[in-house]
Amino acid sequence: MSMQIAQHVPFNPVQCPVCKNYVPNINRCRAFAVESSPRPLLAVLGEESADPCTRFAEIAQTQAAMPADAPPVEIESAPANVQPVEVQAEAVQTAENVPAVMVEAAPAETSQPDAPMMDSAEIATPAPVRGEARIHCQKCKAENPSSSVRCQKCDAKLLLAESAGARISTFFSGLIAAGFFGYLLYRFYIQNPGSAPDIPILEPFLNPVVLGLATVISFITAIVVPLRRTPEYVKYINRAKRHIQLNPWQSLADVETAMEIAPDKEQGNLLKQRAQLFEMVGFVEDAARDRLALATSQNAFKGEADAVKMFTGADSGTYAASRRSSQIKTILYSGKALAIGYCPKCNEVSVLDKDEHCPIHPKTKGREIEYVIPADVVAGKLAVMQKVEAGKPKVAAQLTELLVTGKASALGYCQHCRAVVELDSQRRCTLHPRARVKNVQYAVARDLAAARKRIFTLQHGRRSGLNQTIFIAVALIIAALLLLNAFDTEISGIFQRLINSGR
Ligand SMILES: [Zn+2]
Ligand SMILES: [Zn+2]
Ligand SMILES: [Zn+2]
Repeated sequence: MSMQIAQHVPFNPVQCPVCKNYVPNINRCRAFAVESSPRPLLAVLGEESADPCTRFAEIAQTQAAMPADAPPVEIESAPANVQPVEVQAEAVQTAENVPAVMVEAAPAETSQPDAPMMDSAEIATPAPVRGEARIHCQKCKAENPSSSVRCQKCDAKLLLAESAGARISTFFSGLIAAGFFGYLLYRFYIQNPGSAPDIPILEPFLNPVVLGLATVISFITAIVVPLRRTPEYVKYINRAKRHIQLNPWQSLADVETAMEIAPDKEQGNLLKQRAQLFEMVGFVEDAARDRLALATSQNAFKGEADAVKMFTGADSGTYAASRRSSQIKTILYSGKALAIGYCPKCNEVSVLDKDEHCPIHPKTKGREIEYVIPADVVAGKLAVMQKVEAGKPKVAAQLTELLVTGKASALGYCQHCRAVVELDSQRRCTLHPRARVKNVQYAVARDLAAARKRIFTLQHGRRSGLNQTIFIAVALIIAALLLLNAFDTEISGIFQRLINSGR
């Protein structure tokens, strides 16, 4: 769910210039690279800081002296995990008279590193870094920081409920629709039963149940929607729409806030909106990730399938499933996405072939499959491992390996810290190795924030959904009673007169 952006780290004027991980010609750092495809995104160096870097690794003399065209092997392997111990060992080998401690301290007089590792061909394409999100005040047009609640210039609220105009138009369109359906219902089934026109394509709609339901729903919409307190997520969606041209970064931020708080049925639409925004600002990979999530979602063809059912009577569940699986197949064969799953024969999680079978056991279909863009293989593996880890020692070992090598992190709720903490490779709190840890979640660096949120959701559960369901049910019953009552008395009279005058 989160962004594929480079990390920002401070620039240490003493350490960075002599660090293996520093790439001077683009002023970036390999040590804090973010997993990505085709190459990791190198961290962006920001303001100068004298704080020692935890991942500092000095360039050894031998390396600096290497020929410029030497294959940069080390860079391809995970540079984030260069252990200071290794550096010390190297340093001791090459210059035995230098005490090992010195290497970690300030090796100021080492010569400037030269070319071998700075070949720009092997450096990740510029990291998509988000621009600054700013809220444009609707009243005075002033720009405000993304976190402000009120305009700094005119004090107007920056997150608005639906406008009166929008509410009034919803009210009237709902009322008109209810009147129209109610009229059809009355005309064809109460006044002249059996007079409904015999048009096959309209048959699914022109029956008393559908018409009655449409009337009731339109009526409820007309009453409930304009009167309701605008749900918080709708406010964010509206502000996102307003900022698409003004400031797409604000638009993105608002769509993402909406995704966090919107009910499940809205998630598909929000994902689509975010994909469009990503495409607009050129975040190709993030857009691809959202499009893939949409295409492989369980609800991908639900709307279409319901329409098919309405017209042909075909089972909508079967239809949606077959459309979805053929779409997934097309995507897998295009190579734009990979399937990752658990093979019960290997007892391991791996990247599957294009038909979702284990590459070693071509007859075994993978289980708990996740579809990912090629840049997200580790994240995909984590998602599968998370689901199957329990009781599968080989998968647990695979996971531990990812944790040890720093390709993934484990987070969990430590009962002693009373907080979500990063765990060690044995899934224990680093401060309280004996404390019980609940709701362990695994994530790659760019997903840590999302993993934290998942843990909080697991802790608290979701209660808001239930209240909303009760509210809608009550509104439905009241509206139905009102409607029945109205039909008995006045409305039938009004329609009668209308019909009479029309003749
Ligand atoms: Zn203002
Ligand atoms: Zn296998
Ligand atoms: Zn703890």
